[in-house]
Amino acid sequence: MSGNDILKQIREAEMILVGIGEEFDNIKALKYKSGYSYCREKLDSSEEAWLIPALNMIYEKEESVVYKVLNKLAELIADKNYFVVSVSTNEMVRRVRWRENRLVMPCGGSLMKQCIHNCASGLLEVTESDWKAIYDYKNKLLDENFSQEENKISLGVCPECGSPLVLNNIYTEKYDENGYLGQWQLYTKWLQGTLNRKLLVLELGVGMQCPSVIRWPFEKVVFFNQKASFYRVNETLYQLSEELREKGISISQNAIDWLEFLC
Ligand SMILES: [Zn+2]
Repeated sequence: MSGNDILKQIREAEMILVGIGEEFDNIKALKYKSGYSYCREKLDSSEEAWLIPALNMIYEKEESVVYKVLNKLAELIADKNYFVVSVSTNEMVRRVRWRENRLVMPCGGSLMKQCIHNCASGLLEVTESDWKAIYDYKNKLLDENFSQEENKISLGVCPECGSPLVLNNIYTEKYDENGYLGQWQLYTKWLQGTLNRKLLVLELGVGMQCPSVIRWPFEKVVFFNQKASFYRVNETLYQLSEELREKGISISQNAIDWLEFLC
């Protein structure tokens, strides 16, 4: 698949739907950074799994390739009517210069915090002192004598019920979905307007962590839109079903790499 074909598809599309997936968590690169895997394993098996997007953010800041390639994409589609859905929790996705109100991140990230019991007290912004606590906690995790059981991280308490606050993302047990529902409504409304329009669907690095958000609905959109064309870019899960093969192209490459070498 040459870069020119996709550029032509972008030029000719009336609307563009972009799905950004787990590959943009960029674990492939982060796992080679000193200390990342060690901290990640400790969080994976703990009650503090909601810190994972923040841990990723700390390491991703040094990497910054996600921000770079997605800004390139945002430039390529800048004058198009598009919408972006991300199941990646990488906050770099949010920082990209997308058009206003054209991004929804249903899995949350590390920007907001919520009550651990989701008592409907609302969301609060993560502060600089919260980030300091997160950095300190990350450094403590690297110490093999550190006990997660005895030393809990504190991001303050819920103004309503006094319970601890946690980051607002899918890794927390009682995820407060109000962080994205407003944008989700805009997205579903936008999606209704794609029918019978020349729609280009770019599914980039989306795996099977939450297939009901991007993978399955995107396939359905392409199936029912006679004028749709579909790009599935994924390092491992690039296969297309028989019925989508006519409208779709599958590219077996990591989506970050694909964007990096696109043009
Ligand atoms: Zn509460």
